Amino acid sequence: MNKQVSIAIDGPAGAGKSTMAKAVAREMGYYYVDTGAIYRTVAYFFSIYGVSPKDVDGITRLIDEISLEIRYAEDGAQHMILNGQDVTGELRTPEISDLASKFSAQKVVRDFLLDTQQDLARKHSVVMDGRDIGTVVLPNADVKIFLTASPEVRAKRRWEEMRQKGDQKTTYNAVLADMKERDQRDANRAVAPLKCAPDAVKLDTSGFSIEESIQAIEEIVRKKLGQ
Ligand code: C5P
Repeated sequence: MNKQVSIAIDGPAGAGKSTMAKAVAREMGYYYVDTGAIYRTVAYFFSIYGVSPKDVDGITRLIDEISLEIRYAEDGAQHMILNGQDVTGELRTPEISDLASKFSAQKVVRDFLLDTQQDLARKHSVVMDGRDIGTVVLPNADVKIFLTASPEVRAKRRWEEMRQKGDQKTTYNAVLADMKERDQRDANRAVAPLKCAPDAVKLDTSGFSIEESIQAIEEIVRKKLGQ
């Protein structure tokens, strides 16, 4: 079997990881894996059962009831199938963002999802985005990129995206506050915190347009893969 190629893109919320990862995956013909959606699905599962993110016993008791599947639509969009049901439409709410960040701090949750993520990269060439892909999930990834932008820029991007999707209620300040709280928790948790791998290329896209960011990333990828 040919060696699969893996590209890890990590960074804080709203840094543009999914937009960049999708573009690179399309360009290279690789699978795009949004690991945030996987954590969101797990958080959604526990929210249905009313399990609190602090209830390690409850999480441990129920976690094996979770069966996850990732499917790709014809347009390449990633769909999350939880116990046979497509729950993709339930995952992008502020409540699930907050819960995903809280559940993902639990070791039992991270251990449960590690193999799922590594298995995808064993079977396919992937562009995987998340928080700990270059450090924990795929420490031997062929390319590692750590994407950042200032909290204000990231919050503005996220806020504009929400408005475009029809949310006219949430304020910019609320998005900024949520984002800072989530960054703080993701970067300071004991297990697999958000951090730049020593061998990752760090890219700050604060002053870049989407097109400029994609160009910069594709350049890094081509250089690293010797293309
Ligand atoms: O990337 P996204 O915002 O969808 O991720 C939701 C939450 O899932 C993050 O705030 C983070 O706490 C968690 N996450 C993680 N590790 C990953 C991907 C996401 O801890 N690889």
